Amino acid sequence: MNGITIALSKGRIFDETLPLLAAAGIVPSENPESSRKLIIDTNQEHVRLVIVRASDVPTYVQYGAADLGVAGKDVLIEHGGAGLYQPLDLNIAKCRMMVAVPEGFDYASAVQQGARLKVATKYITTAREHFAAKGVHVDLIKLYGSMELAPLVGLSDAIVDLVSSGATLKANKLVAVEHIMDISSRLVVNQAALKLKRDTLQPIIDAFAGAVEK
Ligand code: ATP
Ligand code: MG
Repeated sequence: MNGITIALSKGRIFDETLPLLAAAGIVPSENPESSRKLIIDTNQEHVRLVIVRASDVPTYVQYGAADLGVAGKDVLIEHGGAGLYQPLDLNIAKCRMMVAVPEGFDYASAVQQGARLKVATKYITTAREHFAAKGVHVDLIKLYGSMELAPLVGLSDAIVDLVSSGATLKANKLVAVEHIMDISSRLVVNQAALKLKRDTLQPIIDAFAGAVEK
């Protein structure tokens, strides 16, 4: 039997993938939240989990260090998807990619006047494509987190970030002004592994497909 490695990130992706793993008969033997282990065994001798940063999941799967993984559409767009099959939208970790600005900032007229906007974001590729399609001139500033701070201290005019409840925007006196896309997480599969280990991988993919909530 071929060994299978599944790459997951801690937090919402791990939590929301648990029921899908269970549908495939896979139960992790530890919780990565409380364990410091980066490799987690499961009830199935030939299946293990590796715990990596959310944005590193596609890389582990691309190079075959993991056969399967779960990654957000946001992360997959930035990664580019090379070497990956993306057979399933898992409909988990749902949120929206938005443009947000400080409450007093008139985004619509700035855009209309053709102003050059400074936009801070972790999602450079998504932001570049969004503003290019709208013909908005932007200088993109790459950040790795806490994008909400950038306009508050004059680093940028706007941010591109993920929004779910909107509570973080509100707490920082920001408002969402444009919806870029809906985000959810997908199952990603190493293309070579799918050919070489199809007998083991396909039943897992099928079980996930059967357990996805519409
Ligand atoms: P890190 O915390 O390692 O910097 P991250 O913030 O991208 O990375 P998570 O917060 O675990 O990691 O998010 C994982 C994925 O969940 C994201 O790639 C995105 O697709 C989705 N996500 C992010 N924020 C939210 C949210 N507020 N609500 C729902 N889903 C979200
Ligand atoms: Mg996060």
